[in-house]
Amino acid sequence: MSRAYNFYAGPSTLPLPVLEDAAAEFVEYQGKGLSLIETSHRSKEYDAVHTGAVSLVKELMGLSDDYHVLFLGGGATMQFSMVPMNLLSGGKTCDFTLTGTWAKKAYADTQKLGSANVLFDGKDQSYASLPEPASLNVNSDAAYLHMTSNETVGGLQWQSWPETGDVPIVCDMSSDIMSRPVPVEKFGLIYAGAQKNLGPAGAALVIIRQDVLDGCSDDLTAYMSYKVHAAKDGLYNTPPVFTVYMIKKVLEWVKAQGGVEAAQARAIERANVIYGAINDSGGFYTCPVADGCRSIMNLVWRLPNEDLEKKFVAEAAANMMPGLKGHRIVGGCRASMYNAMPIEGAKALADFMGEFAKTNG
Ligand code: PMP
Repeated sequence: MSRAYNFYAGPSTLPLPVLEDAAAEFVEYQGKGLSLIETSHRSKEYDAVHTGAVSLVKELMGLSDDYHVLFLGGGATMQFSMVPMNLLSGGKTCDFTLTGTWAKKAYADTQKLGSANVLFDGKDQSYASLPEPASLNVNSDAAYLHMTSNETVGGLQWQSWPETGDVPIVCDMSSDIMSRPVPVEKFGLIYAGAQKNLGPAGAALVIIRQDVLDGCSDDLTAYMSYKVHAAKDGLYNTPPVFTVYMIKKVLEWVKAQGGVEAAQARAIERANVIYGAINDSGGFYTCPVADGCRSIMNLVWRLPNEDLEKKFVAEAAANMMPGLKGHRIVGGCRASMYNAMPIEGAKALADFMGEFAKTNG
């Protein structure tokens, strides 16, 4: 097989050695005469997978034992509900940063379940820039400040974090988890859909600090309650076993590649190649995102018109580079370059961009 450079935003490219390893042991796991996904989640085989995945999350992110690590079904979208259900009970309020499509979705669900103050709304700048973290006036009585570390659709990424005093940050890291170091002590809760930097779809990683957990509602139905999941170490019900199994393999690969610092260095290198191709195109390609907020995971750009954009996406796909169509809400082009994207993929795309601009410019 000749392997494509896969630029889909999610589900998205995974490390080839992980796919091969999983394929090799898919039918029979560790000589037991059955596959792992046919094995009870209460077995010692699955327990080793689950605890192994949890330990790797803690190790790679530098989490203390104060944090619980859960893999919950329902994706990141489920967390848009679970966070306010658990953290805003009893009439508490939270603060929000509206930085793009995903923050707005989280906010819309939060408003249905509690009250939220908007500290920043990027609407007037078409969600193309982020504020200085220091300019956010966090309410000292807020239960938390919600942030979206990387806007997958808009191609924006926070570069630093506000000082929030005792107010914990709750962060949706769906599209940049494990791609850079973060000061975890600032975060009371981190969540991320699995299907980008972690593995296949089917779970959200949820990391919750003990003091935040202690303040969670006691009145929720079992699945919706972080307390219930944490009390059973994420095994209250049947977890998404295949996804967790794959996450463990992906995280072993991240660790072997040098951890999150090395992942960040590689992401910067890839991003520089593509932003360089945009800058060198003499205006044929334009990036709408303000300098200083441009994402190194999801890179967006426009061409002179929509017909050329369609042609670009189709020709790239025909050249084994699928997934470059921008999100349907914003149009344009987008290259999602998660941890598993090799530098050769970025270089091949930059070469293609140069050729396309020459032919069509
Ligand atoms: N947040 C962000 C930043 C995302 O990119 C996505 C998915 N692209 C979601 C939330 C929603 O994730 P899911 O599809 O897992 O519910």
